[in-house]
Amino acid sequence: MQELLRMNGKRDDFSNGVKIELAGRVGWICSFPNCGQSTSGPSHDSPEKMIKNGTAAHITAAAPGGPRYDPSLTPEQRRSIENGIWMCPRHGSLIDKDSAYSTSDIKAWKNHAENIARRNLEYGPTSQVANFSALYSPKDLKILSAYSGIFTWAVIERIRGELFGSKVSHDVTNPLDAALGMENNPAYVFQNTTLEELRRTLNSRIWNFYRHFSQQSGGMIGYYDYIDIHECTRRDPNRRAYWENEIYKTQVLARLICEPALELLKIKENNS
Ligand SMILES: [Zn+2]
Repeated sequence: MQELLRMNGKRDDFSNGVKIELAGRVGWICSFPNCGQSTSGPSHDSPEKMIKNGTAAHITAAAPGGPRYDPSLTPEQRRSIENGIWMCPRHGSLIDKDSAYSTSDIKAWKNHAENIARRNLEYGPTSQVANFSALYSPKDLKILSAYSGIFTWAVIERIRGELFGSKVSHDVTNPLDAALGMENNPAYVFQNTTLEELRRTLNSRIWNFYRHFSQQSGGMIGYYDYIDIHECTRRDPNRRAYWENEIYKTQVLARLICEPALELLKIKENNS
């Protein structure tokens, strides 16, 4: 009976709730590879309304005859969030008309778009550069691999979260030293100017960090002796604010290193 109704033009459309969830899971950005089109914003007609001009496209068609229609799905499955992908109007209509895009391709786009949205949520907004795939030379792709092998997600997270107290593990400084070791090696100079700009920013921020950090740090095996706030305060209670500020500056300089490192890592992930 259900099948018969669909043959008569009944479509398994998404509910408004599903549409909003789909859009929100990708930050209201089109999920088509490298599109990046925003699909929401304020309405000019009313200060209380928003414009929504995206579309919840079906991964497998809502009705027989549509692209990628899968008769084995129940109507509930067909209109469930699993079967939808958020798109801008142009790409929504493109995939609704074209079976050349396979179900597995579209699921991979959806997954990728959700990963980007998740990372933007966790690590702050992404530059346009990092979200786009480009044709980089084999040499540049190799260098990107080298840098993202040093500055992995975990390493970046580690550097961002470092408090710079009395002991600073070499886990934090080793990646910085590795990057500086590559600084003047021609094998690690990017051919692409945007990438090379990011690499230079990374290196200069590491130097800025070390110029500050080395004023107070003493090298030990496995870690650096750094500012012991309790010990400093015990010696001179009036200088507590000064030492706190020194630590804060170190944290800021370390986080600044993470920005270009993160860009390089995102570019790498979007081009592999
Ligand atoms: Zn699009």
